[in-house]
Amino acid sequence: MVSHRDYANDVRPTWCPGCGNYGIWNAIKRALAQAGLAPHEVMMVTGIGCGSKMNDYTHINGLHTLHGRTLALASGFRLANHEMPVIAVHGDGDAWGEGGNHFMHTVRRNIGIVDLVENNHIYALTKGQYSPTTHQGTVTKTSPQGALEQPLYPLAVAITQGATFVARGFSLDIAGLSELIVAALNHRGYALIDVMQVCATFNRRMNYDWYRQRVYKLSDEGHDPSDRMAALAKALEYPGGERIPSGILYQDESQPAYEEQLATLGAGALISQPYATRPAADYRQLVREYA
Ligand code: SF4
Repeated sequence: MVSHRDYANDVRPTWCPGCGNYGIWNAIKRALAQAGLAPHEVMMVTGIGCGSKMNDYTHINGLHTLHGRTLALASGFRLANHEMPVIAVHGDGDAWGEGGNHFMHTVRRNIGIVDLVENNHIYALTKGQYSPTTHQGTVTKTSPQGALEQPLYPLAVAITQGATFVARGFSLDIAGLSELIVAALNHRGYALIDVMQVCATFNRRMNYDWYRQRVYKLSDEGHDPSDRMAALAKALEYPGGERIPSGILYQDESQPAYEEQLATLGAGALISQPYATRPAADYRQLVREYA
C-alpha cells in the first residue's frame, strides 16, 4: 500500500513560514498515495517559481523546466509515455503569463495532464511583481500606483476553450484539495485545478483570513458540474466578485483525450515501441537532397 510518506525525500523546502505551498505539497502527496500511485509511477513537471520547486522536495520522477514552458514539456512527456500520469505544478505567472499560449492550446487539445496552478496572484520567486491574476489596484514592485490591468479569468478561459475538467482548490483545505487532485488524476484528458495559495511575504493582503471569508464550496450550493453554462457563470464570479467558488466547476467525461485519438499510440506508449532506425544509406540520400 502506498503512503504519502513514500514521497518524502531529505531535501528541506526553502519556502517562507506560512507559505501556502506547504499545504499544496501535502495535498499532492496524499492524493498520489490515495490514487495508489508509487513515486516511480507518476511524473511531476514543474516550471520556474517558488511552487515549482515542488519536485525538488518530493521523491518522484521530475522534470524542472523553463519559465512558462511547463505545459509544453508536460505535453511532450505525455505523448512519449501516455501510460504514466503527469502532474504539472506551477504558479500563476508561469501558467498564465509566460505560459499563456501553451495554456490555451493544451486546453483545446485535451491532453491528459493534471495542471495544478498555485495561484498566489503575484510573481513571488522574483520578489513581488504583479502577475496576470493580480487584482486591479494592488501595489507591487512593478505597479507602485496599483495594477492597472484587469486580472485574467483563467477558469472562464478554460471553459470557453473546451476544457473538460475545471476546478478550484484552497491551500488551507488539504483534504478538499486532495480530493480534487484524485478526481483530476482519474479524468480523461486535461484537468485544470486553480489553487488559491497564500504568499505570506509578497501578497500579505490576501492572507488566510482573507480567503476564509470568501472561499465557499460549490457542493454546498447544489452546483451541477455537468452544466457548462452554470460552470461559466461560476468561473466569472472570481476575481471580479467577493465570493470564491471552490470544488469542481465543470467536468465532462464524454470527450476523448488527445492521446486516445493518435493512431501511433494504438500500439502502446512510444517509449515501449520498437525503436526503428533507418539504414545509413537513407541518411546519405537525405543529405544529398538538402545539400
Ligand atoms: Fe511562498 Fe511567497 Fe515565500 Fe514564495 S515568497 S516561498 S510563494 S511565501
